[in-house]
Amino acid sequence: MRICVYPGSFDPFTLGHLDVLKKAITLFDKVYVSVLNNSAKNPVFTVEERVRMIEQIVESEGLENVKPSSFGGLLVDYVDRVGAGYIIRGLRAITDFEYEFQIDAMNSRMNPSVNTVYFMAKPEHSFLSSSMIREIASFNADLKGLVPDCTIDFVAERLRKK
Ligand code: ADP
Repeated sequence: MRICVYPGSFDPFTLGHLDVLKKAITLFDKVYVSVLNNSAKNPVFTVEERVRMIEQIVESEGLENVKPSSFGGLLVDYVDRVGAGYIIRGLRAITDFEYEFQIDAMNSRMNPSVNTVYFMAKPEHSFLSSSMIREIASFNADLKGLVPDCTIDFVAERLRKK
């Protein structure tokens, strides 16, 4: 059975993340979408809120064999714990490459048996980032076409400047 972990902050989950997830489903029997519990990143949404949103997205999109979860500590240890052999990451512009290149080098050093597979989002979502969503949502911008429909209201309400 081919199992992979798609880790991220997902603060919040965007349509770019969804594109990458849908591509991963075509190659793997089981995909863990795993929210990194890292308080150093100062996330806006709690880990529980992010996992809940991913659960709603998985349900409303009818995605099979996807397991929303969260983890702390080293990613390669978590990958081992769930019995996965692969990590999924997404690539946008060249800027992502530099960062992903460094993470991959370190992960490979710590656990050479785990490989990372990279996907790109659809071109129309390739500019999307969670930080951009947080920024524009704070000014009440319309989130349609940027985050999955079923999470728009929750994300907008939480990010709107009061
Ligand atoms: P992290 O904090 O681990 O980078 P993110 O939630 O920002 O977590 O992103 C998770 C993964 O999804 C990363 O590999 C990131 O490059 C990728 N990703 C994010 N947005 C997009 C997008 N629009 N297109 C392709 N990949 C993306």
